[in-house]
Order: sequence, then structure tokens, then C-alpha cells
Amino acid sequence: MNRKIACAAMIILLCLAAFRPALAAGAENAVPISDRAGLEAISNDPDGAYLLTADIDLAGEPWEPIGFSGDFDGGGHTIYNLTITAPDPQTAVSVDGNRKQYDTVFAALFSRAENARIANLNLRGVSVDVSTEQNCFASCLVGYAENTEIVNCSIEGRVCLEASNIMCGVAGLVGFGYGTVRDSSADVTLTLVDSDNGIKCEQFMGGVLGTGYVDIENCDVTLRGFASVFGYVHNGGIVGMYYVHTDDFAHNGYVRNCAVSAVIDFFECNPDRRAYCAPVIGERLHGYIEESGNTVLLFENNETWDYSKTLLPEMCASPDYTTEEKLPNCAEAGYTAHTCRGCGYSYISDYRLPEHSPGEWAVLRDPTPSENGLRERKCSVCGEFMGSEVMEYSVVDDIGDTEAATATADIKSDITGARDEQPDSRAHLTLILALAALVVVLIFIRIFKTGRNSR
Ligand SMILES: [Zn+2]
Ligand SMILES: [Zn+2]
Repeated sequence: MNRKIACAAMIILLCLAAFRPALAAGAENAVPISDRAGLEAISNDPDGAYLLTADIDLAGEPWEPIGFSGDFDGGGHTIYNLTITAPDPQTAVSVDGNRKQYDTVFAALFSRAENARIANLNLRGVSVDVSTEQNCFASCLVGYAENTEIVNCSIEGRVCLEASNIMCGVAGLVGFGYGTVRDSSADVTLTLVDSDNGIKCEQFMGGVLGTGYVDIENCDVTLRGFASVFGYVHNGGIVGMYYVHTDDFAHNGYVRNCAVSAVIDFFECNPDRRAYCAPVIGERLHGYIEESGNTVLLFENNETWDYSKTLLPEMCASPDYTTEEKLPNCAEAGYTAHTCRGCGYSYISDYRLPEHSPGEWAVLRDPTPSENGLRERKCSVCGEFMGSEVMEYSVVDDIGDTEAATATADIKSDITGARDEQPDSRAHLTLILALAALVVVLIFIRIFKTGRNSR
């Protein structure tokens, strides 16, 4: 008897142990976010765990960059039209190649990420356009990174920084700092305009990282870069300058198994030339960097020597744009494409979230005086379930005539929401039921065997 109980308890414990990692990986306690207000509320609890449960359109008001030190899972969803026009006023310390320190501001979705993890997030139509007299790094995802991990994120957008101080940098994923980035991509246009020719600035540009020692693996970068600099240039398709700026002397860095396509126009108006510009790492200031397995699909170093001509994506004095609108469909976002008739420069703006086309309502159950009815509808293009509604019988009338009942039904439309909104909870319920069934079967087998052995 005692052996049977012990055996059953052991089986249950083993099953629970097997189930526990699945719970942990699913970030059960993550706060779900489905709209802009939810994203903004991260600043109230920057140490928290968050999970995007829907695509979010940030069109309208510019985003105010926030500091973050928690776990952010994008759930494979996309944030569209992130627009940033000013850095977070809160500073962090950036470091130049001589380990000189500078109070610096940062502009990105997350201005500062400290001991954070950001995963499974897509950004489309990012527009960061910042002008400042402070030391500043501008990026799409993270401005300043400290021991931060970025996994499976994909970025598309434009970053433009006009700065007049010493430290300045632009990047696709991380402006300055250290951590890891893997299995991610950046398709970005990066522009840096040094607006003070009296200060020799330290300028950094990289498709993934401006400067620091972020370890990078399995990333795809498409970079179109422009830098007009009266100081020291550090441009790389993936990293501007790789440099261990802390006392982490044991750090062996790496940039490996990446693919890069980069075209960089720049000038360096400075007789004390550096002019680093390379397809993977602009300047390697750290001895122990593994650089392997990287594929350079395209690289152009377009240095110019006319320092009066600021280098910008749009080179026409008075550009003349044609616009073309692509409508969203069930699977793809819509957007507006702009192309300059003069120089051919083109960019995309004003993304519109993918959307289904609601079909006719189908009545599943007519309402009666004693019971509410129910109707649902699907997308007329792809058949995706788009929600159901309770049909409430509000007028107690003669029964029997279902058409009249439907006609007088008061449609209550608060019970909707696509069925696939809660796949996690349903999957977990199924898993728990399956495990419970397994435990019962195992206990029966055990009891049966014990009974047979004792005979
Ligand atoms: Zn043009
Ligand atoms: Zn559809």
C-alpha cells in the first residue's frame, strides 16, 4: 500500500518536473500588452515581464523612449510606425576609445536596457529623427545596453541623428553598450550629421551596434549609411567599433555567421585621419574578437572629399516625390511608398496593420425569449474567424416566429475576439489534461503489476 502511494507520488512529481520548464518558457506571469497604453505603462514597472499579444500601431504622437530592465517578449508580433523625435533626457555614461567617459542621452524604443532580455519582436517603419547638442546615440531598438540579450528581433526603419557634441552614434539595434544579439535582422538607413566643425567628435555607425562589445551571431543586415563628420569616423556594416570599454578583460568577443549588405557614404573632415569603414567591423579595438562565417553580399565605401556637402539619403535640393499606397490584406501590412523623381531615393512610411475583410454574419442560434442567440462571422477572403456576438432577446413577444425574434433581437457586441487570441491557455489546458490522463494510466499499470506480482 505504502509502496503504491510512494510510486504514484513519484510519477506525479516526475510529470510535474517535466511540465515545469514548459511553464517557465511560456512566461506565464508576463503582463500581456496589446496596445500603445500597455507599452507606455512599461515605464511604471521597468523590471517586469511583458508579452505582446497583438500588433501595435504607434502612428500619431512620437514615442518617448523608456528605460527597461525586464523581459520583453514580442510574441512574434510587430510594432508599426515607431516615431522618435527626441532622446530620453535621462543620461547614461558612454565611453570612447581612450576610455574617457561622457554623460550621454539615448533615443530608441528602449533608451536604456540594463540586464534586460528582448525577444521575438518586429519593428516596421521606425523613424528616429533627432537633433541634439548633447552626446547622443540613436537606434531603433535599444540606445544604451548593459548586459542585455536581444534574440529573434527584426527591425526596419530610418535613423537620423544631427549632433554637435563629442560622442555620437547611429545603429540598427543597439547604439552603445554590451550584451548579445542573435538570430536578428536590421534593414536600416542610418544618417549622422555632425553639426559642429569646431569639435572633433567620435562618430560610430553600425547596422547592429554603434560601439561597445555586443556579441553578434546569425544576423542579417542591410545598411544604407550616410555620415558627415568633422572628427573620427567609425563605420561598419555590422559594428562601428568593437571595444571592451569596461574591466571585462577576459571577454572574447565574436561577430559570426552574419550576412551583410552595406553601402556607406561618408566624409571625414579631419587631417588626423581614421576614416574606418569596413563591411563587418569598422575598427577592431579589442584583440580577441572572433570574426568568422560572415558573408558580405555587397559593400561600398563611398568616401567623399567635398566637406561643404552634407550627405543625406535625399540628395535633391527640392525633392519631388511620387507616392504609391499599398493596401493591407489578411497577411501583409499596407504602407505608402515615396519615390523621388529627381534622384530615385525611396522610402516607406505610414504602415497600416494587416486586416481581414469581415464577411456576412452567420446566425448559429436564434434568440428565444428564454435563451440568447449567437452569431459569428469570418473573413470573406481567408475564412479566419473574426468574432462572435450574443444576440439578446430584449422584447418578450410571441414565440415561434424565429425571423421576428431575430429581427427584434438586441445585438450585444461585447463578446468578441478571435478564437486564436488565447492559444497559450488552451494549449496549457490540453497539456495538463494529457498529463493527468498519463498519470492515471501509469498508476493503474503500477497497481495491476503490483497485484500480479503479489499473487
Ligand atoms: Zn531626390
Ligand atoms: Zn482574412
